[in-house]
This record gives sequence, structure tokens and C-alpha cells, in this order.
Amino acid sequence: MTGNGNGRVKPKIAFFDFSSCEGCQLTVVDSLETHLDLLDAVEIVNFREAISDQGQDYAIAFVEGSCTRESDVARLQQIREQADLVVALGACAHLGGVNAIKNNFPLDDVRKSVYGAKAGWYDTDPTRPIGEVIEVDAVVPGCPIDPEEFIAFVKQLLQGRVPALPENPVCVACRMKENTCLWTLGQVCLGPITRGGCNAICPTNGLGCEGCRGLLSEPNVDSLLELMNEAGLSTADVEAKTTLFLSHQMTLRAGLLEGQGS
Ligand code: SF4
Ligand code: SF4
Ligand code: SF4
Repeated sequence: MTGNGNGRVKPKIAFFDFSSCEGCQLTVVDSLETHLDLLDAVEIVNFREAISDQGQDYAIAFVEGSCTRESDVARLQQIREQADLVVALGACAHLGGVNAIKNNFPLDDVRKSVYGAKAGWYDTDPTRPIGEVIEVDAVVPGCPIDPEEFIAFVKQLLQGRVPALPENPVCVACRMKENTCLWTLGQVCLGPITRGGCNAICPTNGLGCEGCRGLLSEPNVDSLLELMNEAGLSTADVEAKTTLFLSHQMTLRAGLLEGQGS
């Protein structure tokens, strides 16, 4: 850590990327451009997308992207050993995100589809959220992350608090906005089982929630089934919707329910 001229110690922060589109890191860059005060409060030592320094001495690591290769494991472990605090940045790191869609298909087919004749040149493992490889202390959810939520998150860290994920569903904010529920309009929306905090941005704009912030700890699947029945929609409609961001969590959940029943 170094001082910031006010006698305060600046925490050293690093950003790392794994399999991702880098959209969450871009959101970080955008956020910091309008919150220059934060740049004065921390020391960024490693952030490939924004600076050329590659410092390895840091206390807080933000990790974007999911683990999809064997070599990712050692790199993640190295980050965990160095950092006092590891934060999963965005749905890819938090949930496996869109990268986990490939887990629904044989990996050889996936490799051939992406790399064609050069499929044998590249390794690819089933996608895992980073929390399944190393211990994660906190999460900034979303695809991409929300800039204001990221700034609020960092400010809380600087105050010595580690923010917890919200435990209310997307429906709470949606109801408060007095939106017409999309299910009554015949659309699928995963709001009842998805972690809120995004101000219900998708349903407010007429799009069903796709679960980018992940399932609640105890998702109320019954309420979803109720809405589905009322709207006359099939489980296939819901399954299609849960494939985008929730592939990995739904697979884990199905395994858990299967285990309980056996
Ligand atoms: S969570 Fe979304 S925006 Fe962020 S890196 Fe992954 S795909 Fe890109
Ligand atoms: S199901 Fe979707 S549209 Fe309906 S209240 Fe919940 S978030 Fe809003
Ligand atoms: S409404 Fe759903 S898909 Fe949209 S940002 Fe919120 S959690 Fe993500």
C-alpha cells in the first residue's frame, strides 16, 4: 500500500481476466472516468485493459471471466494466494455466465464448432465459475456489471465493509415501479427466481429477465411455475430462457434435487 497525500494508505488493486468478453472491465474503465476521486483513493497496479504495469503486489483482486482451461486453475490459485480479497466481477466469473452454455454439449463438438480444423490445437474444459476453483470473498453481479453498483461496491470496500449480494428477487423493484408483469403478457421472465439489485432494468424496458445476476439462494421455483401455468407457457420456454446465464446453476440445482429424491 502507498499514501495518497492525505496520510491515508491506498489499497493496491489488480484486475484480471479469464474467459470473458471483457465488457465488465470496460464498464470499470467507464465508471472510473466519471469517478476520478476513486482513482486517488486506490492504487491500481495491474489492469491489462487500462495500464501497461503488471504489478504482482496487490491486496484486492477483481477477477472477470470464468475458468475454462486447465492453465486457468494455477493462475487463479496464484491470485488467491496473493490477494487478501478476491472479487468475482460479472456473470462469467460469478456464474460461468454465457461461457457455461457449452457445458450443455459434448466438448469435442464445441471445440470443432469454434476452431474447425484446428480444434486439436486448443484445450477447453467444462466452464466453471471462479468460486468453484478458489475461495471468493465477494461478487459484483451482472452481465455486464452495473457501473454505479461497482462504484458503490468499491466505496464500501474502502470503508472496510465487504458488500453482500442482495437477497430480494428482481420482482421487488419491478413491482415498486408498477410495471405490468410480463408473464401476464405471455412473456417469460425469470424475475421471481433472480437476485435483484438491477432496478429491474430489463422488465422495465419490456424484456423478460434472463437471470444475469444469478439465482437467489433459495429461489421460489413454485412462484415461477405458478406464473408459467397462469400464462399457459411450457417448461421448454422457461428452460430456453435459463440457458443463457443460468446453465451452470440450474445443472447444479437439478443434481441437488435429484440427490435429495434418491
Ligand atoms: S459478464 Fe457479460 S459483460 Fe462481463 S465479461 Fe462476461 S459476457 Fe462480458
Ligand atoms: S415476473 Fe418479471 S415482469 Fe413480472 S413482476 Fe417479476 S420481474 Fe416484473
Ligand atoms: S432484469 Fe434480469 S437479466 Fe436484466 S439486468 Fe436484472 S438480473 Fe440481469
